[in-house]
Amino acid sequence: FSRGKTNKDKANRATVENVLDPRTMRFLQALMNRGIISDFNGCISTGKEANVYHAFAGNKQLMNNNSQEQHTKEKLPSEDTANLLLADDGATDNDKEDENEPPKLVGQRDEYAIKIYKTSILVFKDRERYVDGEFRFRKSRSQHNPRKMIKIWAEKEFRNLKRIYQAGVIPVPKPIEVKNNVLVMQFLNRGDGSASPRLRDYPYKDRDEIYHFYYNMIADIRLLYQVCQLVHADLSEYNTLVHKGRLFFIDVSQSVQPEHPMSLDFLRMDIKNVNFYFEKMGIDIFSERLIFQFVISETLPNFEGDMNNLSDLMDYIKRNLIVKKTAEDEAEDEIFRSLYLVRNLTGLEERDFDRFTEGKFDLLKSLLAHDNEKNIPHAEDFDDVSDSSDEESSDSEDDDDEE
Ligand code: ADP
Ligand code: MG
Repeated sequence: FSRGKTNKDKANRATVENVLDPRTMRFLQALMNRGIISDFNGCISTGKEANVYHAFAGNKQLMNNNSQEQHTKEKLPSEDTANLLLADDGATDNDKEDENEPPKLVGQRDEYAIKIYKTSILVFKDRERYVDGEFRFRKSRSQHNPRKMIKIWAEKEFRNLKRIYQAGVIPVPKPIEVKNNVLVMQFLNRGDGSASPRLRDYPYKDRDEIYHFYYNMIADIRLLYQVCQLVHADLSEYNTLVHKGRLFFIDVSQSVQPEHPMSLDFLRMDIKNVNFYFEKMGIDIFSERLIFQFVISETLPNFEGDMNNLSDLMDYIKRNLIVKKTAEDEAEDEIFRSLYLVRNLTGLEERDFDRFTEGKFDLLKSLLAHDNEKNIPHAEDFDDVSDSSDEESSDSEDDDDEE
């Protein structure tokens, strides 16, 4: 059977180079024929897993705009709009949560970013860990079929975008529609027709602006976690766009809910990436451990001020975090990075048995038993973290069963 497998791999590889496979082409052509989009030409980005294209909304949108007006501004497109977009290939099994919501209509032609996932199994293989253990996608037993797998990814990105967009606390491109491997969202325009820059490419005016975006980023990570109930899980200066003075998170297909067994590892990784970038930019940063605890603490406040106002942000951030300075701080972060984090139903549990045996128990204990006791059990409480639905019970647990 190895030959069969090879042929299949070749076929899959072929679609990597040719992201616009015939089916995708037909779908896009149908969108143009119906006037949903027009001028589908500019490629904004070619990536490993997806390409992103620019398109203007087509005539259909103008007609809609003339016939219907005055809809609330935070709503997503209605089923009508979805059907217009998707009539081509039959019904989708997207969630239809807001099927009764009216479309958001504007007086001008919108611009869309069309993200087209490549239909190759190869590059998606390592992504299964994000879906495994993801409760919202438990039912999707199609992980062996690459086309279905990609459909799941596109839908996952769409859902996550929608979740963030509807929560209304963090800016993201407005999700428009999804079908198979194609995701349509609002195009973030820099103002001159080109795409808004990634944070990585943003020409900072001054040092204050670097601080501003660092604090903005930290406040947003917390809002994403606390309000949207998501961990980005691929956060970096590459997946953040600067648009109208604000950070916009993009590329959220792999984002997970806090209940995901790996969510805290992803969060820690996000914080590390962000810190690494801003440290490189030459500003004072906070320790990864402190940011982490700040993000997950249920007792600390969310930012409610004006995100465009640096002194608002600064007050907020400085009240909750202290600058990382000493070598000791760095040593702590190093240990923090190596901790084995486990999320159980009652909170965060940290175990790192190697560290225990290396005699670093006390340091570990002081790291973990910091503040917000609600969230983080003290290290000495490990054996007491018992939850009826938690399968991983400790051996040394002293049973006080009441029968
Ligand atoms: P990938 O999976 O390839 O990383 P992304 O979602 O990160 O895909 O998008 C790739 C690039 O396309 C981004 O870095 C950004 O420059 C551009 N891009 C993505 N979405 C938008 C958007 N809504 N508006 C403008 N540019 C976008
Ligand atoms: Mg990206």
